[in-house]
Amino acid sequence: MLDNLFFREDSESEGRLLPTIENIISSEVDYFKQAVSITLRSKIPDTSQIPIENPIYWFKIPNVICCFVDMEGSTKLSANLHDKSTAKAYRLFTETAIRIFSKFGSPYIDIKGDGVFALFDYDQPYTAMAATISFKTFVAEYFTPMIKEKTSQTIGGHFGIDQKTVLVRKFGLKRYQGRTDRQNEVWAGKPINMAAKLASLSTNNRLWVSDRYFKNIKDEKAIYSCGCPDGTKFLLWQEEDLASDSRFDFNTAYSLGSNWCEKHGKSFCANLVKLDK
Ligand SMILES: [Zn+2]
Repeated sequence: MLDNLFFREDSESEGRLLPTIENIISSEVDYFKQAVSITLRSKIPDTSQIPIENPIYWFKIPNVICCFVDMEGSTKLSANLHDKSTAKAYRLFTETAIRIFSKFGSPYIDIKGDGVFALFDYDQPYTAMAATISFKTFVAEYFTPMIKEKTSQTIGGHFGIDQKTVLVRKFGLKRYQGRTDRQNEVWAGKPINMAAKLASLSTNNRLWVSDRYFKNIKDEKAIYSCGCPDGTKFLLWQEEDLASDSRFDFNTAYSLGSNWCEKHGKSFCANLVKLDK
C-alpha cells in the first residue's frame, strides 16, 4: 500500500525524484560500477541454480538453441468481442507448445509476449527441430482447423529457431508478500530475440531457422523428404536471403514448409531425436 502521509510530505518539498526512488537508483548505480563475475557453463542449468542473490553473478552458456513459436493472425482474436473463444485459442496454442517442448526434454521453457520459447543445449539440434516440427504439425492439423470452425478466423503459427551464446541470471524481488513470482530469468544475448524475429517473418506455417543453427543439421533424414506420395525425395529446406534486413546479425536463413507425414512422421521424429544421443 502507498503511504499517503509520506507522499503528502514530499508534495511540499522541491526535487526531481521521490527520495525512495533516489535510493533505488543509487543502489543500482553502485552495482553498475562493480565488477561482474561470469561463470562459463556448457549446458543450460536447472532453473534453481541460476543466480539471483549475489548481484554480480551471471552464467554464460555458449551456442544455446532457441525455438520460438507464436500465433499468426492472433490480432483477429478479440479479448473483447470473442472473449471465450479467444481464451480457448490461447490455452490450446500456448499450453500445447509448453507441453510438447517439455516432453522433448527442453531444459528451459518460458513465455515471451504471447509466444513460447524453449531452449535446448548445443548438442540437441535434432531434438529442437523434432519438437518444433511436432508442434508445427499440431498447428496445421489440429489448431488451425479447430479455431476456424469456432471463430471462422484463420489463425496459423509462426516458428523460428536460432542458436548463439547467452548470459543468464535472475532479476527481481526475491520475496514479495511471501511469494516469489516477481522474479524471472533474463536471457541476454541474440538467440531468443532472433528466433522471435525469424518467427515473425514466417508465413503459411513455415519454420524459419538461422544458418548458424542449420549448419548442425547434416543428416539426410532432416534435409530430404520421406518420398511420399510417389517415391520422389525432395529437398525440404529453402534458402532465404536476409542480407538486406538489418534486424538480423546473419545473412541467410532456411525455411521449411513440411509437417510430419501421415505415414512416416512418427519414425522420422523418433530417428531425428536419436541423432542427438
Ligand atoms: Zn512419408
